Amino acid sequence: MISFSDFSMREELTRAISDLGFETPTPIQQKVIPQLLSEPIDIIGLAQTGTGKTAAYGIPLLHHVDVSVRHVQCLVLSPTRELCMQIQEEMSKYGSHIRGLRVTAVYGGVPISGQIKDVRANPQVIVATPGRLIDLLERKALSLEHLKFVVLDEADEMLNMGFREDIDVILKNTPAREHTWLFSATMSNEVRGIAKRFMKDWKEFSVAAANTTNENIDHQYFVANHHNRFETLRRLLDFNPGIYGVIFTRTKQDAQEVSEKLMKMGYMVSPLHGDMDQKMRSKVMERFKSKQLQCIVATDVAARGIDVNDITHVINYELPDDPEVYTHRSGRTARAGKSGICMSIVSPKQISNVRQIERLVKQKFHKSDIPDGAEVVRKRLFFYLEQIANAEPAHDFAKLYHDSIHETFAEVDKDELIRKLIWLQLKDTIDAYQNTDDLNAGYEGKDKDRTRGNKYVRLFINLGEKDGLTANTLLKFITESTDIQPNTIDRMTVRDMSSFFNVPGDAAEFIMEQLSTKKFKGRKVRLEEAEQRSFGGGGGSSSGGERGGRPRPGGSGPRFSGDVRSFGGGSSDRGRERSGGGDRGGYKGKR
Ligand code: AMP
Repeated sequence: MISFSDFSMREELTRAISDLGFETPTPIQQKVIPQLLSEPIDIIGLAQTGTGKTAAYGIPLLHHVDVSVRHVQCLVLSPTRELCMQIQEEMSKYGSHIRGLRVTAVYGGVPISGQIKDVRANPQVIVATPGRLIDLLERKALSLEHLKFVVLDEADEMLNMGFREDIDVILKNTPAREHTWLFSATMSNEVRGIAKRFMKDWKEFSVAAANTTNENIDHQYFVANHHNRFETLRRLLDFNPGIYGVIFTRTKQDAQEVSEKLMKMGYMVSPLHGDMDQKMRSKVMERFKSKQLQCIVATDVAARGIDVNDITHVINYELPDDPEVYTHRSGRTARAGKSGICMSIVSPKQISNVRQIERLVKQKFHKSDIPDGAEVVRKRLFFYLEQIANAEPAHDFAKLYHDSIHETFAEVDKDELIRKLIWLQLKDTIDAYQNTDDLNAGYEGKDKDRTRGNKYVRLFINLGEKDGLTANTLLKFITESTDIQPNTIDRMTVRDMSSFFNVPGDAAEFIMEQLSTKKFKGRKVRLEEAEQRSFGGGGGSSSGGERGGRPRPGGSGPRFSGDVRSFGGGSSDRGRERSGGGDRGGYKGKR
């Protein structure tokens, strides 16, 4: 395996990379860095954010920079202020041991005077948005006379944003330019046009895998009728208590409205869209990065600058029209080798769009059930139990309140106390999920089509998230163990300790037999037929096949079953003042 120490670059860079803890170069870095270090020719790199492309060009740039000379030698053009700031930050980290190196970022949306001062200090590297750079050139605040290297980062986005002429003007005014490195997520005719006008004998490097297929992303979709979209979103958020995500809407108005509704309900979210001024957007990003926000609700344009590595979920509140946009959205998660989930809420009519995107990303999307109320409560209960198990109260805290805590609870039975505490934590959720509807829209007809009338059977398997299972690995496990085609498996639902999936009726027995002889990570696999229910029937037709059972809309049956019933049933808390003791995703403390 290639490592950074295999690259012959200046020692200061090797040290900085090791400080940052980078071990293995990403695919684009493996392709581009050795070439640009040894022979800095013109190149086109097809890679999107999250693939490590900043280091792919940043490391070679800093390797070639001559710090003894104080004029601008390298220029990185990028479409947005946020990206400029991130690139500058990244490059400064890579160059942290190079004495005398200055990397400056200039972008619009802030007063130009400070930037004039910065560029007059003669940095060797400038990271700029095209518009602001032209402004500075016109004011003669800087000169590109000695510029040797130009990087066009996210060239397709710059063109989409109408910077074509600015790029032309800038590149025409770089008489000493020796090399141009163009990076783009997509290769349009316009991008090729820039290359033809300004580059010579370029080599292309692409990381097709990251551009279209990121195997670490689990693509899921949830079928809900349009009027249930918001409620579905809410349920998905509640069902994923540790979520740190981006919710995409199509319009600025939707971003604003969805966000406001969620905020009113106590979720730590904020909108991010083009009607907000730069200052507000930066503030939102700061809060998101410091995890004071669990999610941002963003439009595609505004989300361009989001460069956060540990996003766990991307949620498409609505699918984009353009499948290509979907890959940009989903690429916000599963970055730098991590895994992530991209969930899409789709109406029955939009299932054909899902198929189209499946073809583009070359991955099967998993149709998942929108969880019912009992499942949400159960999930949050386990999340909370885990938080308690892992909590480490400060020593001072224990000392300070030891006596009064003991005095108050001396007579209270331990189990009773635990029940009370958990009840306090979960009562808002339990209240909110009493008598909730099944939000899964029915599309039985389509299901039948796919199996030519053969009825589906739902199977239970004794493996879940706790075994490290995801929908992807479950599908792989089933297909590899049985030789069954992946597209015959449907509606996979991975829970904490168990999972469910549909198989055509005539294959069910075979699949159960085959899988029951297997082990998964050393654990013996057990399968059984889940209790029969009518799938996707919507309304109240469900008969509660999976653990917990579905609460019947408006019904008077048990509201929550299993472990949760003892908290939810009987001691209804309705009418009591809500004291804000909710459990929104562990973010409560920062509210
Ligand atoms: P980029 O695609 O340039 O936006 O990079 C995405 C993130 O991955 C950045 O935060 C980098 O710091 C990080 N990164 C880049 N290269 C590596 C690497 N080889 N190993 C680990 N992380 C990396």
